[in-house]
Amino acid sequence: MSAHPPVLVWFRDDLRLADNLALTNAVRSGQPLLCVFVCEAGPACTTALDWWRTQSVQALAHALRARGGQLHVFAAQAEAFLPELVRNSGCTQVFWNRRYDPSGKATDTRLKARLRQMGVEVHSTPGNLLHEPWTVRNRAGQPFQVFGPVWRAASAAAHYPAPLPAPAGMEFAPCAAFAAMRVGVDLAVETLPGWAVAMQPHHVFGEQDAHARLHDFVAHALQTYAQDRDFPHRDATSELSPFLRTGQVTPAQIWHAVAAVDARSDGVKFLAEIGWREFAWSLLWEHPDLGTRNLKPEFDTMPWRVDPKGLARWKKGRTGYPLVDAGMRQLWRTGLMHNRVRMVVASFLVKHLLIDWREGERWFAHTLVDYDPASNPMNWQWNAGTGVESAPFFRIMNPVLQSQKFDPDGAYIRTWVPELAGLSGADIHTPWQASLLQPTGYPSPIVEHTVARVRALAAWKARRADATGAANP
Ligand SMILES: Cc1cc2nc3c(=O)[nH]c(=O)nc-3n(C[C@H](O)[C@H](O)[C@H](O)COP(=O)(O)OP(=O)(O)OC[C@H]3O[C@@H](n4cnc5c(N)ncnc54)[C@H](O)[C@@H]3O)c2cc1C
Repeated sequence: MSAHPPVLVWFRDDLRLADNLALTNAVRSGQPLLCVFVCEAGPACTTALDWWRTQSVQALAHALRARGGQLHVFAAQAEAFLPELVRNSGCTQVFWNRRYDPSGKATDTRLKARLRQMGVEVHSTPGNLLHEPWTVRNRAGQPFQVFGPVWRAASAAAHYPAPLPAPAGMEFAPCAAFAAMRVGVDLAVETLPGWAVAMQPHHVFGEQDAHARLHDFVAHALQTYAQDRDFPHRDATSELSPFLRTGQVTPAQIWHAVAAVDARSDGVKFLAEIGWREFAWSLLWEHPDLGTRNLKPEFDTMPWRVDPKGLARWKKGRTGYPLVDAGMRQLWRTGLMHNRVRMVVASFLVKHLLIDWREGERWFAHTLVDYDPASNPMNWQWNAGTGVESAPFFRIMNPVLQSQKFDPDGAYIRTWVPELAGLSGADIHTPWQASLLQPTGYPSPIVEHTVARVRALAAWKARRADATGAANP
């Protein structure tokens, strides 16, 4: 056993060994490691992301075990618990990678001050982004309001250092304290609720799987990404979002994997999507209430409808519009939904049902395994027209045309709405007009498209009149 006191590595949204600066710096200290994860929500899984994280923590625990170590998992409030753990275990230094969400940031600031008061050295290092949010500024030193210039500036200056390998020679410290607060990671996975167990077959977990997926995508799908990415049945996107969320892969690793094989348009398009994720985090940094406040205040007077039945039908995938319902059912069954379909269902909720985008944001926060407190509200605001840069509200997606264009033979719909599987390629987008009506139990449309469109535009004009005090144009 080492004669040196231990150092604590606090894993959060960085459940990996490679390209983990906090872990690498802790190993470089030459002191034995106490690797810790604190489960603040408790061991129970309430959301899909809780479930994903439980699996991911278990994968990290296995990876550390394979190197002779242990991940100590505690159910506790980190702010109160970590100083106790540090004191009890005699740690002299604490290492973590930064997080940028408002409550994580506030907790870390207070905790850092508390630990330093105790005489403990705290080292926080850049987290799961290419650029720390406060560094993304225009020439006037102001935050960017729109994506294009941000990404042009970031791409022009893009010389990201090569990602770090997993550190070699890790030495671990034992820790038997706080037994009552420990969570057995294997046990937590074995006692999952039924909905979580049903999601299991749709996923793989852990850092190795994340990298296998990245390299498979770069080798086989990157070249056709730009042309195929909008077609939900083509398996054309990377499906890296849950791994990015909990840090099994980093944007820098993705950047280098793509740059190594492709500097042409498909790679550029794909990297620009990573750029949208960065932009979302810089928006959340500037607007901590991104998930609750319209960034365009003129939407504060929007006459949203209160429609619990409509909302429930949307959540359950029973709106009567096959592409919308396929997306909502894919979400419930797998915790994921294709990006194009996310846009269609978001537009449908906000414009066809005229329900406040925050209801949809909350449902996605509950059901997405890749739920991200920056990307989710940014995209909802973009689709609702309420964001700083967004699709105008009056651009209303037609769910039937979207279905015919992006799922032309209905393959995606057939997967998730099996009661429509017997319909022809043409009928599947409008089952209410099907030449051969079948008793499928599938509902009729909750609202007719043209009626919904007129209603949404009228509400939008009324909102403008309220906001300006002027008569409608
Ligand atoms: C209403 C709505 C809500 C969304 N909520 C989330 C969310 O909570 N978490 C989340 O990670 N993404 C969210 N997205 C963005 C996008 O749908 C997902 O990132 C994407 O579907 C993930 O699949 P992929 O990994 O195969 O993406 P790819 O097409 O392979 O893209 C690679 C990566 O780029 C990033 N990315 C791609 N598109 C976007 C985008 N529009 N905005 C921000 N980052 C993007 C993701 O990290 C993604 O993993 C949302 C989109 C919409 C329309």
